[in-house]
Amino acid sequence: MKLQIDLKPCPFCGSAAEYGEHHKAAYVFCTGCGAMTKCFAENNYKELNQLAAAESWNRRTEHE
Ligand SMILES: [Zn+2]
Repeated sequence: MKLQIDLKPCPFCGSAAEYGEHHKAAYVFCTGCGAMTKCFAENNYKELNQLAAAESWNRRTEHE
């Protein structure tokens, strides 16, 4: 299953963002400055947590 959506560049330094995961939990982090979303673990599927993390990340970049 592949639900990952494109991640926008970091709002702080412009570097590429990547998905991180911890068991079923997922988050998005910046490869440049280390900024990251909170860890999303509400869903039983890692892919859905990744989706929530990506939406959170992309929403934040829109507000900067
Ligand atoms: Zn950054």
